[in-house]
Amino acid sequence: MPSPQRLAAFRSIQERPAAATAPNAPLQELWAQDVFDLAKMKAALPKDVFKSVQKTVKEGGKLDVSVANMVAQAMKEWATSRGALYYAHVFYPLTNSTAEKHDGFISVQGDGSTITEFTGKVLVQGEPDGSSFPNGGIRSTFEARGYTAWDITSPAFLMETPNGVTFCVPTVFISWTGEALDKKTPLLRSNAAMNHEAQRLLKLIGYTDVAPVNSSCGAEQEYFLVDSAFVALRPDLLLTGRTLFGTPSAKGQQFDDHYFGAIPQRVQVFMQDVERQMYTLGIPAKTRHNEVAPGQFELAPFFEAANVATDHQQLTMTLLKNTARKHGMNCLLHEKPFEGINGSGKHVNWSVGNATQGNLLDPGNTPHENMQFLLFCGAVIRGVHLYGPLLRAVVATAGNDHRLGANEAPPAIISVYLGSQLEDVYRQILEGEVTGSATAGVMQLGVDTLPEFPKDPGDRNRTSPFAFTGNRFEFRAVGSNQSVAGPLVAMNTILADSLRFVADQLEAKLGAGETLPNAAFSVLKQIMQEHGSVVFGGDGYSEAWHHKAVEERGLENLRTTADALSVLQREDVRQLFVSEGVLSAVELESRYEVYAEQYVLAIEVEAKLALQMARTQVYPAVMTYLGQLSSSLHHQENLGLPPDRAMAGKIASLNQQLLQTCTKLEEAIASPPHGDAQAHMNHCAHTLLPLMETLREAVDGLETLVDDAIWPLPTYQEMLFVR
Ligand code: ADP
Ligand code: MG
Repeated sequence: MPSPQRLAAFRSIQERPAAATAPNAPLQELWAQDVFDLAKMKAALPKDVFKSVQKTVKEGGKLDVSVANMVAQAMKEWATSRGALYYAHVFYPLTNSTAEKHDGFISVQGDGSTITEFTGKVLVQGEPDGSSFPNGGIRSTFEARGYTAWDITSPAFLMETPNGVTFCVPTVFISWTGEALDKKTPLLRSNAAMNHEAQRLLKLIGYTDVAPVNSSCGAEQEYFLVDSAFVALRPDLLLTGRTLFGTPSAKGQQFDDHYFGAIPQRVQVFMQDVERQMYTLGIPAKTRHNEVAPGQFELAPFFEAANVATDHQQLTMTLLKNTARKHGMNCLLHEKPFEGINGSGKHVNWSVGNATQGNLLDPGNTPHENMQFLLFCGAVIRGVHLYGPLLRAVVATAGNDHRLGANEAPPAIISVYLGSQLEDVYRQILEGEVTGSATAGVMQLGVDTLPEFPKDPGDRNRTSPFAFTGNRFEFRAVGSNQSVAGPLVAMNTILADSLRFVADQLEAKLGAGETLPNAAFSVLKQIMQEHGSVVFGGDGYSEAWHHKAVEERGLENLRTTADALSVLQREDVRQLFVSEGVLSAVELESRYEVYAEQYVLAIEVEAKLALQMARTQVYPAVMTYLGQLSSSLHHQENLGLPPDRAMAGKIASLNQQLLQTCTKLEEAIASPPHGDAQAHMNHCAHTLLPLMETLREAVDGLETLVDDAIWPLPTYQEMLFVR
């Protein structure tokens, strides 16, 4: 029988009233009703003003002050008519979270009456006091000012709570001195850099009409749901988002019966609630299903422009967490809430394209399109090879370290999966050079008469961190709790760099009189010679690959965040970001500092909490049980029965391991190394985490021996299966 507090949790779950649900409405009615989108602007603004806004959205640039004033006026009228009393500048600091600065529309007049006010200046430049947002030393606190300004490519929207409405404006967040303090600014810059080089390449291969090129993103979100009554009894879930202790349930995911199984009704009610809110916010929720682990689910939207998709992804995470609470559950976005079953990732599907040439990663149907595709795809291959360690670094967090490298998620070694057909095409290109004859015969094989590529090649490789999936790449190493901005910035920037390389080469060769197909072919050959070693179609989990990747192919295996983050300090990475105008050296260094600090903070909190839970929850329970055991052993003796002390012995020895490890952990927490961020990260990775692991072994061992009626912490089986 479970302990009294766990029993009480059970009861409250059984008696929980069903969450109130909203009446169904048709999609057309729900869709974007809370978004001040282009359609609403068109209706509210004079024609020429709207045209000017629309142009800025499409082509970038700054809003003219008079236009900004009229937009602000229209926004205010719409928002206040919907009941909004406050507006918020929403921005995305370096912590993966979303931040908001709320202000009232209210303005008090000389005679004491009030009016509502919202000007163009407030719209394009708010001024939150940002002094406590991590900025890696860019701003000293005395110059605490940070500015937020509307990102016109991302529409404003209304956020409703049961008691009111807030008008939200997505913004960039920049320092007094002009440095980006957020994740949106570099994303916009990386897109601009990629657009510049992509347009250049498209023009070189013969297009005259080339629209702005944008990156797209569709992010699949995995998450766990656990009843709040259990979470309330798990300080580790509350504070760190993962279980620091807990033995695997006898039934885990071994039956594979959860994946794509029927969605439990309570969960489906929750999902529908989330999806309804997503639709009103103009977020195109598209798929939902159970995931591999019990209690694990997934949601994916239809893909959108990367910048908007990123804002929508942040909103989705907020909606998931808030809505779960409404339904008496906690939504866990941590990458590894439970040991022994799958963790959660966020597959970032990414492509680039424009209005005139379409999706540039679509293999297309004609040879010419194939050449275009092969060049863009080749540029990705080159970029991933040159900057694989950077891609590892942008997914490096304390939480994600539990997935990467474990046997469930993509390995920490970054390689590219192309699928057998495409892999073969690039192999032929490479071999064209090996025979030393870029003749017409080989050309035909490589570019001119390429077979039509099937849009969705049947084969998928679930073990690859970076996979081509028919018309896009899927970056699968991203953590479930992460903002997608960092990964998108990295992908756009390395693509910009490689497109620049391809365009430079083509330009030189064409200038020297080579034909376009010949020039394209030899650039591709060179790419495959120098970077083809990053292409891998086998099992990414296997030991053989780990060995081969590092020893033979020279790829890096950066196992932990402590190993990976220093990539941000490498000279080639600095060059990359600075030359593409995406991050200045100072901005890049500040990101290293902030992410290193986040890693250290996360692990230190876990270590302190593990210590506290072991001492104040587990140890007392163990001592109570040992006391009971010892008196019943006395009874047995008194009755003349032979007492069996084996059990008590086992418990006592694990208890000793617990106490000794607690002492060591306490000392280690109290004595962080003096010195730089790297030393501090190493201390976390190589001292604190192993001690927490040893502590966990003791606690988990005890959980299997101590009387269930005393054990204070809800078990895996309860958290994963009771709903
Ligand atoms: P799977 O689980 O097979 O990877 P899903 O349907 O769950 O597939 O998710 C695929 C994601 O990729 C969706 O968000 C989808 O909108 C997105 N996607 C599809 N095409 C593109 C594209 N061209 N660019 C970016 N994302 C895309
Ligand atoms: Mg996927």
